Amino acid sequence: MTDCIFCKIVVGDVPAEKIYEDDKVVAFLDISPITKGHTLVIPKQHFKDILDTPDEVLADLISAVKKIAPSIKRGVGADGFNLGVNNGAAAGQVVYHLHFHIIPRFEYDNLKMWEGSSYAEGEMEDVGKKIRSYLQ
Ligand code: 5GP
Ligand code: ZN
Repeated sequence: MTDCIFCKIVVGDVPAEKIYEDDKVVAFLDISPITKGHTLVIPKQHFKDILDTPDEVLADLISAVKKIAPSIKRGVGADGFNLGVNNGAAAGQVVYHLHFHIIPRFEYDNLKMWEGSSYAEGEMEDVGKKIRSYLQ
């Protein structure tokens, strides 16, 4: 897509600190990192989000994540990492070219993930029933 910033990174029209590239996938450092080494893994082909992306492409992406993540950990001395995908504006998606975030984590980084909430009596079963009804 001509107006997509990540498509421009793929072809080199916009500079990026690329750390990995093969014929299907590119990985580069996020310009506004949550932690040092925060990496975005994207398909070279443009898909807007995970639901729009063919399974084979998702398989390529997850294989690339598995290949790259140990080097990111070693490169920045991380103890672990979060793997995340924002889908839709409500989930915080800003760039509509699918990307997996690899976010290095450090034992004492003090980053707080979301708080857990709770279900009212019987609510969990209702929610489970509704979701299952769309999967049949
Ligand atoms: P989203 O919120 O859509 O899941 O994440 C988009 C991510 O892309 C953000 O973390 C943002 O910092 C990163 N980003 C946006 N524009 C650029 C850019 O031009 N170069 C790089 N390297 N990262 C970008
Ligand atoms: Zn794109």
